Amino acid sequence: MDEKKLLAAALTEGFANAALIDTKSITFIPAFRILCEENTCGKYNANHACPPLCGTVEEMREKLLQWPRALVLQTMWDIDDPLDSAQIKPAKEQHNQMTRRLIAQAESPCLMVGASGCDLCSPCTAAEGKPCRFPDRCASCMSAYCIFVEEMARGCGMEYDCGPGVTAFFSLICF
Ligand code: SF4
Repeated sequence: MDEKKLLAAALTEGFANAALIDTKSITFIPAFRILCEENTCGKYNANHACPPLCGTVEEMREKLLQWPRALVLQTMWDIDDPLDSAQIKPAKEQHNQMTRRLIAQAESPCLMVGASGCDLCSPCTAAEGKPCRFPDRCASCMSAYCIFVEEMARGCGMEYDCGPGVTAFFSLICF
């Protein structure tokens, strides 16, 4: 599927906004890694797609930049507390499922960057020290890549902070 068709398919899938970018326009901020180390999601050192198991910030950056173009995907949710994991977790899972459905439609090689860490298996085999079950489908999140999401969203004309009562999530399909 060409990129314009993929963009149109994203809006049909239900994403609030979608935009095409060059991946070289993405800013990576290594200092963001501390947010993963705080482990509020519980996946630090417990998921192959999350730090430190996923690799260094530089390794993640190099991995992403192998793909020159990306589709930025945004969903918006009626969530008044962006720190309330009971509301955030299912919304991020739904966002990731929408992203995976879009990838299935694309039928082309790509790299997914999720709204949250990989949730294909429960639990992730990393917890048992075993290899990833689906290395071709596992997806690290924006935080694992240390992507400056706010700047990226602004560059696409999307709002990062959507105001009271609304929380936005983002993912990427790199191709
Ligand atoms: S595909 Fe399964 S085993 Fe691999 S990172 Fe994702 S959750 Fe873990």
